[in-house]
This record gives sequence, C-alpha cells and structure tokens, in this order.
Amino acid sequence: MDLTPATSGIYIDGRWRWPADRDEFVVSDPATGEGLARLVDGTAEDALAALDAASAAQREWAATPARRRAEILRRAFEMILERGEQLAATITAEMGKSLAEARSEVGYGAEFLRWFAEEAVRIGGRTTQTPEGTAMVQVTRRPVGPCYLVTPWNFPLAMITRKVGPALAAGCTVVVKPADLTPLTALRVVEILEESGVPAGVVNLLTTTDPAAVSGALLADPRLRKMSFTGSTAVGRLLLREAAGQVLRCSMELGGNAPFVVMEGADVDAAVEGAMAAKFRNVGQACTAANRFHVHDSLAEEFAQALAARAAALRIGPGSAAGTDLGPLISEAAVQRNLAIVEDALERGARLVTGGRRVEGPGHFLEPTVLADVPWGSRALSEEIFGPVAPIARFGSVEQAIADANATEYGLASYVYGPTLEAGHAFSHEIEAGMVGVDTGLVSNAAAPFGGVKSSGLGREGGVEGIAEYLATQYAASPIPALP
Ligand code: NAD
Repeated sequence: MDLTPATSGIYIDGRWRWPADRDEFVVSDPATGEGLARLVDGTAEDALAALDAASAAQREWAATPARRRAEILRRAFEMILERGEQLAATITAEMGKSLAEARSEVGYGAEFLRWFAEEAVRIGGRTTQTPEGTAMVQVTRRPVGPCYLVTPWNFPLAMITRKVGPALAAGCTVVVKPADLTPLTALRVVEILEESGVPAGVVNLLTTTDPAAVSGALLADPRLRKMSFTGSTAVGRLLLREAAGQVLRCSMELGGNAPFVVMEGADVDAAVEGAMAAKFRNVGQACTAANRFHVHDSLAEEFAQALAARAAALRIGPGSAAGTDLGPLISEAAVQRNLAIVEDALERGARLVTGGRRVEGPGHFLEPTVLADVPWGSRALSEEIFGPVAPIARFGSVEQAIADANATEYGLASYVYGPTLEAGHAFSHEIEAGMVGVDTGLVSNAAAPFGGVKSSGLGREGGVEGIAEYLATQYAASPIPALP
C-alpha cells in the first residue's frame, strides 16, 4: 500500500512532528477496506512530551483572559462550519456514516465550541459571610490543570469538541488521544484550533495504536490533573483504576443499553419515527442508541410491523454515495457480533421480522434488523448491541415496564412514548438513566448535560454542568475588618 502521509504527524507544543524512529499505522475506509492514510504510531515517550508541553503552557493559559479564550473557541466554531464539507467527508471516509449524518455531526460538534465560548466568560464565583459574621469567604473556580482526553471512533469530531471546548474554556491545557480507527478528523480539528489562535502547548494531539502504554504513562504522572474518557465501560473501569494512583478528577462517558418504552395508548407512528432515529442513526453505533424496545402488549405487533417496514426501506451503501441511509459498521468483528446476537435471540424463540443478514462487501454491511417477541435471557436485551438490530420485547403493566427498563447495569440514555406527554414525563422519573427522551428519539444537545448513571459513567458533558468538570473550587477566607 502506497499512502502518502495524511498529515505532518503528531502535534506537540505547537509543532507537527514525525519522529524518525516511530512506527506508522494505516487508517482504513470501513466501506471499502482501503487504506486512507498513514499516521505516526505515538509512544509513551511522545505522550510524556505532550504532557511536558501541556504543563508548561498551563499557567499562562489559565491566566489568559476568559474573553480571549472565548474568542479563540468562537473562531474555531466558525472555522469548523466553514470547513464543514471537508470535515464531513473525512468523518465519512474513516468512520463510514452517511454524508448526511456526518454533516449533522459537524454541526452538533461545532456547537460545543460555541456553547463553551459562551460559558467561558460566565465561570464566576461568589462571596459569602460566615454565620458568625466575623469572616468573609471568597469562592473562586480555577482550572483543574492539564487534562488527558480520550475519545471513541463513533463520533470522531463531536466527542473531541465536547471535551476540548469546556477544557479550553475553563483554562485547562490538554493532551488529546483519538481512537486509532478514526484519528483523521481529530487532526483536522486540531489544525483548526491551531489556526484559530490556540497557543503552543495548550492543545496537543497524539495518535497511537497502543493506548494502554500512552495512558499508563500519562496517568502515572503527577502533572496530569484530569482525565476525560468516552468509550466502553470495560476500558473505563481499567482507566479509573489507574487514575486512582494520582487521585485524578475523572469524567467518564461509558457504554449504554438504552430502553425504548412504548406505553399503552401511545401514538405508534410517532413512536416508530422516534425509534428510527434512536436505533438506526449512525447504524446503531451510538452510546445513546435505543438498544431494546419494550412495547405494551396491545401495540407490540403493530409497532414491530411498522418499524420493520421503515427499516427495510433504508438504503444501505457507502456513506459517501448519494442517498445512503445506512453506511457500513466499523469492522468485520462488529458485523459478526451483531449476527451472533441475532442468532442467539432466534434460538431463544424470537421472531425475525426483517433483516438478519450481512450484505456482501467490500465493506462491513449489515441489514437493518427487527426481532419481535425477544425473551429475557437473550443477548440482544442485555448487551450493548452497537449495530442496526432492534429487539422488541412485550410488557403488560406499567410496573413491569419500569422493572424491564431498569434491568441493566447501564443508565445512559432512555426513551419513552406515553399516551400523553405528562404520562411520559411521569414514567421518565422512574427510569434510572442520565437522559430520557420523552416523545423524542434524539436527546443530545450542546446545551444539555449529557451523561449517565450506574455503569454508564461519571460527570456530564455540555450544559452549564460541562465546564464544571474542568474547574476546581477554591475559597479564600479573611476576617471582616472592624471600623477603626
Ligand atoms: P473503547 O473503549 O474500545 O475505546 C475508547 C477509547 O479508549 C479509544 O480512544 C481507545 O483507543 C482507548 N482505549 C482502548 N483500550 C484502552 C486501554 N487499554 N487503555 C487506554 N485506552 C484505551 O470504545 P470504542 O469501541 O472506541 O467506542 C465504543 C464504546 O464507547 C461503546 O461502549 C459506547 O457506548 C461508548 N461511547 C460512549 C459515549 C458516551 O458519551 N457515554 C459516547 C460514544 C461512545
């Protein structure tokens, strides 16, 4: 394979570097299997060089007026939109999603830079008096310090801006480590941050196929003060254990197993509309994806047939082709895992309503699949599917629906369609999840505090909560002077 380097390397202390003795790795297009670019395979040594730069830049960046930090982020927001087509094409090429979805990721991802540009100037603090009336307490919020930001492959742009936006707004410097399957978008975003005026050392970017070595070196170094990780619960647990050594601040956006509940009396057409977005966006490869559908007995068959009809009409193909609804899955392993989940459900007595087969490649394509009457015990209900497979289970009572919805170690997204908006809201209070879509299949927004409970994670990204993850509270106490 003869690929020219896609970039000039890893980005450390404001310089693009391609160290001579480093290995390289190839990023491939999941729709064709073809190589797209060669990149530097960064090492623990590179990670520490990046942390050297981040810690050297920390003091000055923290002291940079919030207004200036905000203006840089705002400029980066604008540049992402100006280069939206190029970025969307890069996302589609390395990750596989359709161009339409890549464009919407660009818009969604850019919003985090605009939102946190606006939050940067509102960090604020407070002053209070002790109850004894003898002392003043001045509370300020300061940047936590250098951060390690780790992102997954499924939203190569938005997962980065959702972390870099609040970190920079708060006055923190960062070392970014994108997933090795989708690092090209990250390189483009860092180029934009550089051009927007981010000073040398404030943002550093490391590509690597050895995340354990890189993470190990950074998490053991006392100069690092925070980790923000988005990825699987299994890797999140490993990293949390490592982070305990330096008692790091941690924000963890982990896996999900979102229930999608359709209550008795719900509008089936509306529920199917929401289900299409919640299940098939990103070919089901979203942590917020509806994993399993719990539908009242009275609506289950109608819902299954309507969802299957809509799913079967989705057009499968390379994300870059006009009219594609469903691109490829990220890898052959993902196709095999989805097929095994379908087979397991069928063996346990589920009914195949549509799909269930792979689509011959090149590329890792799978038919959108709807399974009805899926029994408990099936992998489809208990595991994070991360693909275009929609298992439907039935329930008889609201109490059962609540128990079914919560029967998981996860608690990220969830969805409910009730007979009325009020009924849906009442149900939402019973769901153990950080996010509930009530009469909607889309929950994400830069202004909303994205995140989970239980094994889905710690902390929130977006909203006014998002910047707090990068701030430490300090107070100064002083006596109230008496009149002379
Ligand atoms: P993953 O856990 O395999 O990888 C995530 C990141 O961790 C990547 O950058 C990877 O290189 C790195 N990594 C992997 N092994 C590591 C190790 N041993 N030490 C240090 N770093 C390591 O997850 P993925 O397959 O890239 O993404 C899919 C998962 O991410 C799903 O479980 C999904 O639910 C989750 N996700 C969660 C959110 C959220 O906001 N909660 C958003 C998107 C994806």
